Amino acid sequence: MSAAVLFLVVNFIIGLCFSAVFAVVSIYSRWRQAALLFCAGLCIASLTMLCELAVAYADNPRFWAIAVYGTVLAGLVLLHKGIADLYDRPFPTWVAIAMFLAGMAVYMLVRDVPRSWWARGFLYQGPYALVTLSAAVSVFQSERRTAIDRALGFVLVVSGLHFFLKAALAAVMGAGATPSAYISTAYAVMSQSITAVLIVAVGLMLLAVLTLDIMAVERGRAERDSLSGLANRRGFEKAVKKTIARSAERQHAVILCDLDHFKSINDTYGHHAGDMVISAFGTMIGTQAGANAIVGRIGGEEFVVFLPDTPPAIALAVAETLRVGARTMMVPGLPGGFVVTASFGVAGVPARGSLDAALRRADAALYEAKRHGRDCVQQARAA
Ligand code: GH3
Ligand code: MG
Ligand code: MG
Repeated sequence: MSAAVLFLVVNFIIGLCFSAVFAVVSIYSRWRQAALLFCAGLCIASLTMLCELAVAYADNPRFWAIAVYGTVLAGLVLLHKGIADLYDRPFPTWVAIAMFLAGMAVYMLVRDVPRSWWARGFLYQGPYALVTLSAAVSVFQSERRTAIDRALGFVLVVSGLHFFLKAALAAVMGAGATPSAYISTAYAVMSQSITAVLIVAVGLMLLAVLTLDIMAVERGRAERDSLSGLANRRGFEKAVKKTIARSAERQHAVILCDLDHFKSINDTYGHHAGDMVISAFGTMIGTQAGANAIVGRIGGEEFVVFLPDTPPAIALAVAETLRVGARTMMVPGLPGGFVVTASFGVAGVPARGSLDAALRRADAALYEAKRHGRDCVQQARAA
């Protein structure tokens, strides 16, 4: 087996393996369509390797040479479409089809040009390069700018430019006098080995982008409470500690809220109605507490609001707004006129103070509010 044939077989297997991995990733990713486009693109591009072998060894090499060109181009256009999807850039199907047809037209024009003419290689590789560089532009134009996004963009630029390198190599080394002669040239070995490296590089980058996204989604889920839509205790503490670390010299405030006689709502109207109350209360405090507030559900019917850079007097006013908000919120599943009430404890977080200490003081104030007959706001004693 010649070295070029070996590389063709290796590339075929690498391409199919990546294709299979993207099929699996599409099950878990929210970018399902992009993952399926990568799967399809790599699968079609892998067929190129078989077509290359057919050019060398089967009858009718002219037909197989068209198939080689078409499978590479179709694979690249599908990858481009997937990347545009993933990076939220416009890339309508008609543009994809037009790109493919234009590339094929260029190929049909140059295929009978003598292979020894140096410019032929650049015309042959040009459509591949432009499609790949256009995909890189989608990445760089996107609002997503993490290290992995930049790395993908960089690998796409290198991949795009490498087609021109191939054209130059073909001019220097010679790509064979006929399509069938290509397989036994030194150029074929060089070209296929570079392709192997780039398939792996692009495949791994795309895989990393999709996998990191799946991990971020899962992390977000682990920090969110599904019933109220608010942060859970873990998400709340994480967000607050980040804010406190950023502005340690500022004083902040926390409000603890607990629904009143919630057990009797469950007992009278059922657990589902109780859930509706939790959901409605979560929505209400999420919207009324203000854009900067960090709001969480930290127990069954216990909620917490962190107000960054807020003096106690303002926090008390916010708590009062929330108290009135509870009384006036609409809850599906409860009889009209039924009033939900909640009690509130408010505590300041002094500059460089701890969240835990403030929560303990707010809890004591909340206990006071319950003792004072519920449906009221109590301020904690100074730290
Ligand atoms: P208080 O005014 O003193 O706070 O009285 P309460 O009845 O609200 O407080 P208690 O702690 O006695 O009861 C809280 C109830 O909340 C008990 C529990 O069954 C209910 N609960 C906790 N989590 C959920 C939930 O997710 N959904 C529903 N429907 N009920 C829940
Ligand atoms: Mg409670
Ligand atoms: Mg309660």
